[in-house]
Amino acid sequence: MQILSVASEVFPLIKTGGLADVAGALPLALAQHGVSVRTLLPAYPGVAEQLRKRKVLATLDHLFGGKATVVAGQAAGLDLLLLDAPHLYDRKGGAYGDASGNDWDDNWKRFAALGKAAAEIAAGAVKDYLPDLVHAHDWQAAMAPAYIRFTGKRPVPTVMTVHNLAFQGQFPMSIFAGLGLPGAALSLDGVEYYGGVGFLKAGLQLADAITTVSPTYALEIRTPEFGMGLDGLVRVRDNVLHGIVNGIDTDIWNPEIDAHLAANYSARTLGGRAKNRRAIEERFGLTRSEEPIFCVVSRLTWQKGMDVLVSVVDDLVAMGARLAILGSGDHSLEGALLSAAARHPGRIGVVIGYNEPLSHLMQAGSDAILVPSRFEPCGLTQLYALRYGCIPVVARTGGLADTVIDANEAALSNGVATGVQFSPVDADSLRIAVRRTVSLHRDSKTWTAMQRQGMKSDVSWTRSAARYADLYRSLVPAG
Ligand code: ADP
Repeated sequence: MQILSVASEVFPLIKTGGLADVAGALPLALAQHGVSVRTLLPAYPGVAEQLRKRKVLATLDHLFGGKATVVAGQAAGLDLLLLDAPHLYDRKGGAYGDASGNDWDDNWKRFAALGKAAAEIAAGAVKDYLPDLVHAHDWQAAMAPAYIRFTGKRPVPTVMTVHNLAFQGQFPMSIFAGLGLPGAALSLDGVEYYGGVGFLKAGLQLADAITTVSPTYALEIRTPEFGMGLDGLVRVRDNVLHGIVNGIDTDIWNPEIDAHLAANYSARTLGGRAKNRRAIEERFGLTRSEEPIFCVVSRLTWQKGMDVLVSVVDDLVAMGARLAILGSGDHSLEGALLSAAARHPGRIGVVIGYNEPLSHLMQAGSDAILVPSRFEPCGLTQLYALRYGCIPVVARTGGLADTVIDANEAALSNGVATGVQFSPVDADSLRIAVRRTVSLHRDSKTWTAMQRQGMKSDVSWTRSAARYADLYRSLVPAG
């Protein structure tokens, strides 16, 4: 079976968050289920250079104001199709905005183009390639089902995966004329959404199946609290909605061989973590001690509960916690965390920025990771933490609820606990969760048992890739 996966970021070529990790790892896992995946990705600056065996396979003459080519190539075991459209993607800055973080004004064009190109490839634009199904990830790819439905010469089945319902690709009605869709597409059953054009709405409306990245998030997005205005539509499409938890690439995230660590280790040789801990103390300017290091590796945003963390940092330090924080995002949160570090030298260290190698070291050298997200479709950092013997302390929501087993009395006495959960996301419960974690950390036998139990959890793609493969098979006509 041949799948065309469409995504705006793919690890290791370009990454701003978990979407890239999933788009980069799932194709490799699917190969073991007889599914071969080609991934369509915009050719941002520097991306094409990372591909081996580059070859132009198709030309799209008029793609939103310019000529585009489809360039095939390989990288990191992935079979890629780059949409090379310099007028849309060849510019300084990030994938979605300029260097100061402002979204590009023409993002509607940039990502409508991605969906349109997917539809053209599905219809045979690339010689000798007819995918059986198109799998669109998030709003940036969500117009693919719309173009396939309304302009596609070949009606292939489509799957829409929601990695985060908060990002919807909502644009004013005035862009509709530029999309090249028939008038019929501008309806409640099409791309129209609250008087404008909704890219994710279109994908949710028109895809043959919808998936989201954990079973709990699949339940949550049916509710007004988590549905971000789309809960009504999600409930209507309930019969085609599936929650499939993300896995991680267990070769890239493997403490036994990870080259970013100060020392490699396994569940049997947990003592090896000490060197990594020392490296974290040095990197973050923390005074050497036996007190637990809580790390944060995160976008610094409201979704991630970082404002709640800011409001309790002084209390956490008073409880004996040390903090090592890596992230970037809202400038006010960055500033608040930096000033917390200045108030508590030796107890709180903050690195503002995006640093993939450091994120690995933090999982290996910290005792626990804090994930106080207000909502979390799946979350990957707690999965890396489980694999690295770093105890996840997480909000009980979305994929965090599905992947971490709280250290309550029953779980502890049965030896199945892998972390700490708390709810709701507010200052009091975060304080209580950290106090519980600090006291668990004092009991080294229990702590080690939790680390080992976490490291035994299956966080690989094995089971979830099988579920995607089954879903694809259920949608692709036999023969
Ligand atoms: P989201 O996609 O909502 O940001 P996830 O937990 O699903 O959250 O994925 C975040 C991914 O980005 C993880 O791989 C995490 O390690 C990584 N990450 C987040 N912030 C940073 C950072 N500042 N430096 C390095 N990696 C980061």
